[in-house]
Amino acid sequence: MLVTFPNMGNVAFAARALCQGLKIPYVMPEKNNKDTLRRGSFYAPEEICLPFKVMLGNFLECIEKGADTILFVGSCGPCRFGEYCELHMKILRRLGYGNVNIVVADFSPEIGIDALRHRIAAISDKSPVGKLEKLKAVKNAMIIEALCDRLDRIAYEMAGYEVNRGTCKRLMYEYKAKILESKEPDETIAMLRGYLRKFGEVKTDLSLDPVKIAIIGEIYTVIDPFSNLYIEEKLMDLGASSSRMLTPTWWVKDLVMKPVKLNSPNINRAARKYMPFPVGGHGKECIGEAVLAAKKGMDGAIQILPLGCMPEVISKAILPSIRRDYSFPFMTLIVDEVTGEAGINTRLEAFLDMLGSIKKRGGSGRKHNLTKMEPAGSLLRRCANEADRKELFFE
Ligand code: SF4
Repeated sequence: MLVTFPNMGNVAFAARALCQGLKIPYVMPEKNNKDTLRRGSFYAPEEICLPFKVMLGNFLECIEKGADTILFVGSCGPCRFGEYCELHMKILRRLGYGNVNIVVADFSPEIGIDALRHRIAAISDKSPVGKLEKLKAVKNAMIIEALCDRLDRIAYEMAGYEVNRGTCKRLMYEYKAKILESKEPDETIAMLRGYLRKFGEVKTDLSLDPVKIAIIGEIYTVIDPFSNLYIEEKLMDLGASSSRMLTPTWWVKDLVMKPVKLNSPNINRAARKYMPFPVGGHGKECIGEAVLAAKKGMDGAIQILPLGCMPEVISKAILPSIRRDYSFPFMTLIVDEVTGEAGINTRLEAFLDMLGSIKKRGGSGRKHNLTKMEPAGSLLRRCANEADRKELFFE
């Protein structure tokens, strides 16, 4: 058995660590690139959303390298995600890869816990290690995911405050490259912890007060830099500070807490007035995040969605109400395989210019009370105090 998995931001690092811990041979998917997308788009239905096409491209590349088992997560919908795995299987069969097994970890109650256990066993039974080591492998994979998400968050937010422009981006590239060099999950964890320390030493100037942007939208396109045309890195280059709530770590926590209805209470509460019912995907989360960003005192938000993404199209229609109620500016970026990077760059620069001038004029005149919320950028203000900085980065 040679396992592979889609390249979805930091998730691929965690999946790689899981295979290392279970001592199961694996094929690491290439960093998503234009060829991956071109290949996926060629065989995918034209109207399907971007994540499907990129993932299909990943699978085809890895199958050619010998992979015969694909690890994937699934759901029963209500958006197209519910159809992903069936459609992937159908296309792969048609292309002559009927021998490839797709193991779908589907946590929806419709599938049932027994079916889920059976699917997980299809992988874990092939592992030569004992039960305790298997548990450790899962734990390490989760730690690596959480550390990567945390480091990314610090890098994106801190970039607006760094004294030497480019330091955070350089550190981010470094740890991502080093993950691929490490041989063991324990080694990866130690290395990532070291980078937490390095971020703690980055020279920052809290008086810079950069434009602060919330990244909201469809989860795959916000966590996969290639799909969103590296928008967070572009914001780093432009000296802005950005943050997003949707990360793979958030997704796991949300999934675990959902059965007891304790998932993301802050987001759900914030979204209730505008969207009382879920509409599939993370449409509700997009609305909740937008409201929270406005209340936190962020300067604006960028919604990213793949062309034709049903849940995000609904959210897009609601965002103008939030703009009106909170005087909170939004920009929407719709991405697919023909999205031009130059157009995105121009829109991004124009949006930042607009936010910068609103900021200079003394803000958008929002009337709501910000004092109960933690203001954006407080992560770094707390860093000004060395003791706090330790607490924040060295735990
Ligand atoms: S959330 Fe949108 S992009 Fe993601 S699978 Fe559903 S329809 Fe497609």
